[in-house]
Amino acid sequence: MQASKRISTLLEGGSDGWEVFLRAREMIANGTLVTELTIGEHDIRTAAPILQDMHRAAMAGHTGYAAIPGIDPLRKEIADRVSARTGVPTKPENVMITPGGQAALFATHLAVLDPGDTALYIDPYYATYPGTLRGVSAKPVAIKAHATDAFQPRAADIAAAAQGAKSLLINTPNNPTGVIYSRDTLKSIADVCHKHDLWLISDEVYDTQIWEGEHISPRALDGMAKRTLVVGSMSKSHAMTGSRIGWIIGPENIIEHLINLATHTTYGVAGFVQEAALFALRLGDDFETEIAEPFRRRRALAYAQLAQQSVVGMIPNGGAMYMMLDISATGLSGQEFAFALLESHHIAVMPGESFGAAAGGHIRVAMTIEDNAFAAALATICQFAKTLSDET
Ligand code: PLP
Repeated sequence: MQASKRISTLLEGGSDGWEVFLRAREMIANGTLVTELTIGEHDIRTAAPILQDMHRAAMAGHTGYAAIPGIDPLRKEIADRVSARTGVPTKPENVMITPGGQAALFATHLAVLDPGDTALYIDPYYATYPGTLRGVSAKPVAIKAHATDAFQPRAADIAAAAQGAKSLLINTPNNPTGVIYSRDTLKSIADVCHKHDLWLISDEVYDTQIWEGEHISPRALDGMAKRTLVVGSMSKSHAMTGSRIGWIIGPENIIEHLINLATHTTYGVAGFVQEAALFALRLGDDFETEIAEPFRRRRALAYAQLAQQSVVGMIPNGGAMYMMLDISATGLSGQEFAFALLESHHIAVMPGESFGAAAGGHIRVAMTIEDNAFAAALATICQFAKTLSDET
């Protein structure tokens, strides 16, 4: 018996770009000490007070089926937060709670695309994007952003592919590049959306990790609220990756459909997790700054270190927990460099190619280990790149 085409093609060609990561995990399982700078996970765990509140909620009996759209106070808290942060009046009816941002990405596309519809996304991209689009039976079309533009997408390139397309997926602050889309970039993207009648899916899961400049939610741009679905998550902002809690913000009619979808898929999110999420959001801005702080610190360390050499280039990262490093001076692809670094120095990074062709010749470094170890790993990466480039 065969699995469906839809599910079989989630990973095109059977590869999902995680080969270096899997090799690193294999080495670790075999007893090798590997410095992991691969996945976007904090080096701290969820804060104890949040876990205590989760425990309290569970012990208080919030262990049955929870309201499928999300519990009322959490929907209201998120609506108020979004209204305050973006200036767009947002009601609880514009909010649906999801088991994390990834589920929200899948659901939003299912809500706006029919089988065969063209769905645009920007390359470099978060590794699950093409599979998510194939998973809803859409036709994914990647629009290349360029390293020479610091990976700000060009509206003209999007417009050139937009004829007949139904949706555009963007992500700012961006994984893998750390780039924050400027107001001009977002305005020009909004213009393309208006002109070609596109839905905009805006993945904003890194919106609390801003090192330079400002995060602009494109939903706040003129006329965009009616055609934008925002994906949010507490994974990165509150170090709650394992709790699986996120949300979708959008027009009420789409949220109603999404609630029907949840009724037929997830049946909602655990009530005790939602209560803990509410507690966590009410810890306020200071807590979010505290969670983001280690990445801000390590980014400053990296800038100082990279300024002292000229082999490894850096895409200026205004946000998120990653750095995209240009290792093309070594003559290797990102994939070759990452494998060679892993085998020779036991440091695991992600090849740029794992996030699309546009990031070829780059590696993504997650700033997710303790400061001194991070600085040491970065020094080794630079030294390794220098040795390779001297040989070429
Ligand atoms: N979107 C982006 C850009 C991400 O980097 C991630 C996770 O790394 C997600 C969405 C999904 O996050 P989660 O499902 O943990 O909320």
